[in-house]
Amino acid sequence: MIRLKHIYKSYNNTTVLNDINLCLPSKGLISIVGTSGSGKSTLLNLLGGIDKPSKGKIFINNNELTAFNNKDLEWYYDKFIAFIFQSYNLIDYLTVEDNLKLVSNKYNHVLKKLNIYHLKDKKVSLLSGGEKQRVAIARGLIKNSKMLLCDEPTGALDNNTSIVIMNILKEVSKERLVIMVTHNMELANKYSDYILHIKDGHIESVPKINDDTFNMKITRNKFRNVYKIILNHLLNKKKRNILISLSFAIGLIALSFVLSISNGFKKSIDIEEKNRLSLYPIVISKNSYNIEDELTKEDKNNLDKIYIKDINHVNNITKEYVDNLNVINNNFKYKIYKYNINDYIITTISLINIESFYNELDLLYGSRIISNNEVILILDNNNQLNKYDMSMIGINNPEYKYESLINYSYVINDITYTIKGIYRVKDDSILSDITGVIYNSEVYKDSIPDTIYLYPSSYDNKQVVINKLNEYQDIKYQDISTSIKSISNSLIDGISVVLLVFSIITLIVSSILISILTYINIMEYKHEIGIYKSIGLSNFNIQVIFYLENIIITCVSILISTITVLIISIPLNNYIYNLTGLINVISLNFGNFLLISFLSITLSVLSSSIPIHNISKLAIVEILRNE
Ligand code: ADP
Repeated sequence: MIRLKHIYKSYNNTTVLNDINLCLPSKGLISIVGTSGSGKSTLLNLLGGIDKPSKGKIFINNNELTAFNNKDLEWYYDKFIAFIFQSYNLIDYLTVEDNLKLVSNKYNHVLKKLNIYHLKDKKVSLLSGGEKQRVAIARGLIKNSKMLLCDEPTGALDNNTSIVIMNILKEVSKERLVIMVTHNMELANKYSDYILHIKDGHIESVPKINDDTFNMKITRNKFRNVYKIILNHLLNKKKRNILISLSFAIGLIALSFVLSISNGFKKSIDIEEKNRLSLYPIVISKNSYNIEDELTKEDKNNLDKIYIKDINHVNNITKEYVDNLNVINNNFKYKIYKYNINDYIITTISLINIESFYNELDLLYGSRIISNNEVILILDNNNQLNKYDMSMIGINNPEYKYESLINYSYVINDITYTIKGIYRVKDDSILSDITGVIYNSEVYKDSIPDTIYLYPSSYDNKQVVINKLNEYQDIKYQDISTSIKSISNSLIDGISVVLLVFSIITLIVSSILISILTYINIMEYKHEIGIYKSIGLSNFNIQVIFYLENIIITCVSILISTITVLIISIPLNNYIYNLTGLINVISLNFGNFLLISFLSITLSVLSSSIPIHNISKLAIVEILRNE
């Protein structure tokens, strides 16, 4: 049974209900009648739990409805009551069937009874007032609630249909409590078990009602399938949603680029190192710089002394050392030795693979070295030779024709050498600093060189060589490629940080945008949210609708940005390749994609969570009245 105890309700100091005390049974048909504005709907709303009295308590059995929390109310709307609103409150863009499905799947028999089965697949917006009213009644009836609250249920219906409806309500009232607000006294008199007359905020002649109880089993709300609503919201505001997707995508494109550049650049530098940088020579010189720090940790912490450091390190290259290098012969494409003999700088090549050496050069004139007494001239990119080196062998003019130097002979240490070929270093060759007169290595086979250039044949071989060189702690070597690599890596890191900051700013702006638009969205769908609540969708269920909409929009953004980056990276990578020779500098990998997806979905959920959270605060009665 329902008990109303000292119920007052006033709006802006006008008292509408004034000390109502009343008991209602758990079954039967009760009509509320009275003049317009007398407070009939107000009373109905209080019973429906969508409005609260200014003072007083309402009990359902022994539970105080007026003290229900949000979760209790969700249960109450879902399981206990069903509304049939005067203004129908149907979702216009859904079909009759989809409107009913939000409440229950068992609607066919009711539709047939109400003679609207043929309208099942029609959109509600296309129905007449009378048809809408019957759909609203159907929605109220299919919900197996304990109490049916009807506000002028026959207001828009003709006489015959009204009688059909009243018969149905009378039938239903054998099992549940039906409370009906009406103006139609004739129907009220004919069908009601009790009639409540409201006048001046009071109920005239309160009926005496026997004590009985509702069967109240608390069960959880069912999660409703809302994909049609989401789909419709997305399509309904197509242009706006596309714009949001695009603007969010811009932030994501920036982020994708940053990640794919730092990923691809490091990878391509790595490949570059393996393919090319590793082929740059390791140089072992008699006189080298001592780049290592010789101070101990203690010294470093003790900066009150002056330390004298010998930066000129003298490498003691021994016969044994050179022999040892020859043991790992196969790991070099070629070795180049420089000797300093009686002021002559003699550059010889030890050809492990003679073809690869000549591949670095363009033949200008003559031929290769064949015997020990033959040498070749290697010119730099501008066809120049060092004046000092040349004057040592008697070549003193400022310029020569190729043919005039071929077969030119000179004597060193009683041995006569003849120039056999003239070569130029290829543009992109790693041999660029090897120019001048080049001898066959056999010539100085047993002497100890001043400088050794080791050209490893591959990245892996280079590691073997370096391991070998590391065995000689006193002999320092210089690895050019390592220093190039560390410069380029720090360059990438620097650029990445700058780009990252930019993309984070764009993402923040996009998130704020999403937050604002979600807020606007919710305000626009306020009335609809009221309907969902009144038919028993939980707040969580409604929030899921809006979260999913945002997540779908975000997924579209992710898709747009990923496709854009993948497409743009093709010509851009080509351009960069032509410019620098680096392959796939922009390369978006799956890990980046997952990171971006995770980040953007999290951002969108977070930024929309505040406006979406407000859904639970929206009061049904306010929302539905503001129609
Ligand atoms: P009825 O259903 O009997 O026609 P209502 O219950 O709708 O009457 O309204 C009773 C009185 O309360 C009316 O004067 C109406 O204007 C007023 N009223 C109802 N709701 C509000 C509200 N939210 N704010 C101010 N006045 C209200």
